[in-house]
Amino acid sequence: MRYDQLVLSFGEIALKGKNRQMFSDLLFHRVRERLRDLPSVKVRMPYDHIEIDLNGANGDEVAERLRHVFGIQSIRAAIETNLDLQEMQAGALKVLLGEQANRPIRTFKISTKRKNKKYPTPSNELNHLIGAHVLRNTEGIKVDVHHPDLEIKVEVLENRARISGRTYEAAGGLPVGSAGKVLLLLSGGIDSPVAGYQLMRRGATVEAIHFHSPPYTSDRARQKVIDLAEKLHFYGGDVKLHIVPFTEAQLAIRDSLPESYRMTIMRRMMLRIAERVAEQRGALALATGESLGQVASQTLESMNTINEVTNLPVLRPLIAMDKVDIMTIAKEIDTYDISIRPYEDCCTLFLPRAPKTKPNREHANRFEKNLPIDALVQAAVDGIETIDIGRHEDSMDALL
Ligand code: ATP
Ligand code: MG
Repeated sequence: MRYDQLVLSFGEIALKGKNRQMFSDLLFHRVRERLRDLPSVKVRMPYDHIEIDLNGANGDEVAERLRHVFGIQSIRAAIETNLDLQEMQAGALKVLLGEQANRPIRTFKISTKRKNKKYPTPSNELNHLIGAHVLRNTEGIKVDVHHPDLEIKVEVLENRARISGRTYEAAGGLPVGSAGKVLLLLSGGIDSPVAGYQLMRRGATVEAIHFHSPPYTSDRARQKVIDLAEKLHFYGGDVKLHIVPFTEAQLAIRDSLPESYRMTIMRRMMLRIAERVAEQRGALALATGESLGQVASQTLESMNTINEVTNLPVLRPLIAMDKVDIMTIAKEIDTYDISIRPYEDCCTLFLPRAPKTKPNREHANRFEKNLPIDALVQAAVDGIETIDIGRHEDSMDALL
C-alpha cells in the first residue's frame, strides 16, 4: 500500500510564543532543502504542522530523510479520503491491511479528531463506526484502546479526511540556524562529533576547528576529520572546517615546559586560537566533546585551569554522559566507524603518559611565561586553512 502524505508534527516549536513563526519558517525551509531533489513531492505548512504530498514517492524513504531534520518530533504516513463515512471506513481498513502486510498486528484503535466541527457525527461515534467496519472485515484482530499495536488516526478536516497509520520517530530538537553559531573543537575522536550533533539538534549552526601537527599527524588523520565534518553536514547544513597548523605551538610547549603541564597548556593554546577564530566568524561560544572525569584533561581542576584563557562560554554537551552512552549515539549518527579509524591525534603527541590531573591556574600562568604565546597564536591563526563542507549556499542566512 502506498501512502499519499506525510504529516510532520512540531516538537518544541509548538511551545514557542512570539518567535514561533521564525522557528516554523526555518523548519519549513530545512524540510524543503532536504527534499530539493524530489520535485514531485510538495511541502505545505498549515499552522501547526507540515504536510507533504508524496505524489508517488516512497513514504518510507522520504520519512527516513526527514527523521534527522531537527525540529520534527514525529512523522505520520497518511491517506486521504472524502468525508463519506463509507470512504473513511474503507480508508481505515486499507491502512490496517497495509500495515499488517508489514508487521504483525493483533490489536488496533481508531482515534478520531474532528477539526471540522460542523461535521455531524461526534468523534466517539465515528471511532465506533469505523472500528466496527475494520472488525467486520478482518479476522483475529481486536480493539485495544490502551496499548494497541496500531493506532489509526482519523482527522476530519474541512472537506477531506486524513487517515494515518505508520509512524516514524524523528530526532526532535530545534531547526538548525535558530540558535546562532558555535565553534566546535573537532578532534578525530568519538566524543566531539557527538557534541556537534547535540548542538545542531538544539538549533546551533556549527563551524568546526581542528588542530593538526604535520608531519607528526598524517593526511589520513586529517581526512578522518573532514569525513566527520561531512557527517555533521548531513545533520546540520553547511559546515566550515578550519584546520589549524599546531606543530609549532606543540614543539614550543614540548621544549619549554615541564612534562606534567604540557597537556594543560596545550589545551589553553587551543582555546586561545579557537577564541580568535570564533571572533572572526561571529561564533558566540566554543564547544568541546569533554565529559567529566573521562581523562586527565577533563577533571574539574583541568577544566577550570584551561577555561581561564577565554571569556567565551565553552559548551560541553557531553559533560554528564557516560562513554558507553556517547558511543551509542555515535553509532546512531554514523560517526563511530570513522572515529575509530586508528590515526594519531595531535593531542597524543609529546604528551606524558601521566599528565597532571589536578593542574592549577597559578602554575599554568607561571609556566606560560616561558612561551611566546601571542606570536604562537598569531602564527597558528594566520596558517589556517578553511574547507567548506556542503555544496549549496544557505539561502536561509538572509532570514536570520
Ligand atoms: P574526542 O573523542 O572528542 O577526541 P577524547 O575523549 O579523545 O574526545 P580528548 O582527546 O581529551 O578527549 O579531547 C577533549 C576535547 O578536546 C575533544 O572532545 C575536542 O573537543 C577537543 N580536541 C581534542 N583534540 C583536538 C584536536 N586535535 N582538534 C580540535 N579539537 C580537539
Ligand atoms: Mg581525542
